[in-house]
Amino acid sequence: MSIIGSRELIRDINEKTILKTIFLEKQIDRASLARKTGLSSATVTKIVSILIQKDLVVELGESDSTGGRKPILLCVNKDYGNILGVKVGVGYLYIMITNLNGDVLSKSRLDYGEEADPVKITNIIKNYVDEQNKNSLVGIAIAVSGTVDPKKGIVLDSFLLNWKNVKLASLIKHVLKAPVYLINDVDSFTIAHLWKGKLVNYKNALVLTLGTGIGGSIVIGGELYTGNGGAGEFGHMTLIDKGNTCSCGSQGCLESEAGFDALATNIYEKTKSLTLKEAYRNYRNLETSQIDFLKLALKEDENTFKTVFDEYSYIVGIAIKNLINIYAPECILIGGEALEFSDYFLEKSIKFAKAAAFGNLGERVTFEIDNLGTDAWILGGIYKVVQEEMFYVEV
Ligand SMILES: [Zn+2]
Repeated sequence: MSIIGSRELIRDINEKTILKTIFLEKQIDRASLARKTGLSSATVTKIVSILIQKDLVVELGESDSTGGRKPILLCVNKDYGNILGVKVGVGYLYIMITNLNGDVLSKSRLDYGEEADPVKITNIIKNYVDEQNKNSLVGIAIAVSGTVDPKKGIVLDSFLLNWKNVKLASLIKHVLKAPVYLINDVDSFTIAHLWKGKLVNYKNALVLTLGTGIGGSIVIGGELYTGNGGAGEFGHMTLIDKGNTCSCGSQGCLESEAGFDALATNIYEKTKSLTLKEAYRNYRNLETSQIDFLKLALKEDENTFKTVFDEYSYIVGIAIKNLINIYAPECILIGGEALEFSDYFLEKSIKFAKAAAFGNLGERVTFEIDNLGTDAWILGGIYKVVQEEMFYVEV
């Protein structure tokens, strides 16, 4: 489609450009807005007044300025609409409602049982929204482990949820009448940190999340790098020849050697504690149970726990060393539920990786630890919804 002559389209693009710039700058005056966008002052003034009329932008007090008339600051109306975000975990949903800034208005963890039934999950989400949400929904972000096709709204493959080609977006959209954006949970985690977490100041970084599953992602030039779709599956690099069978079908993957299931099994095999042996046999294959089992092991048999986590620190260290040698990142951000036990492995893993990495690559890496917690798995998806629904223009 030709852009020439399409005044409405150009105005739409200018509107979205200005709105996005205000959003990213958080607070900005009209003159700076013109400088940043390259649009004329007259255009900026005109479009800003349209955005204020539409209730998308609000004027704040005057900004600090040295002498002369003080310019008025603009910001996006964070209460224009709400966004719903959901992480579909194994056995539970982590669900939250935020405003446009990603400030959390309500959140909850809701169990759905052993089977990840998309219809049941949709109903739980619908009930939560009916109870909690008082504002209109701009959009919905759904984060899942595995690969997704955000355009078609399909979960292509999620080993942990046992899903293949699940048309989740249309199911939820049908019930909640708002656009739905699917995102891989580690991608969401990474985008959340680029937006308002530990990666704000880095251009080239890696993310490694350690827990039941082991995930990863790559940041290049300040943006999430997805490759041909699905880049950064660090959990499925082979570490052990003919090792444990992995949920992905391969053998000896980092995840099958160092995911929570492998840790729990190692503890079960090494411990003499009857309480632990019994607990291991009883625990169902849910994330909550695995982490609970590991906590119990720390309490019941600290020596075995420490032995297993020593081995764990070594495996994680090897993985990090390999990643440093391949990517030479400025920063590696570590996240995931394993941080609960960080005292027992993290320092050792990092020390090993730094020493073993090629040349001085290891010494140049800064390690960061997740500070957003569970929210990060959803916030990146929420950021994507804001981008897609508020700033994107279809040409
Ligand atoms: Zn694997």
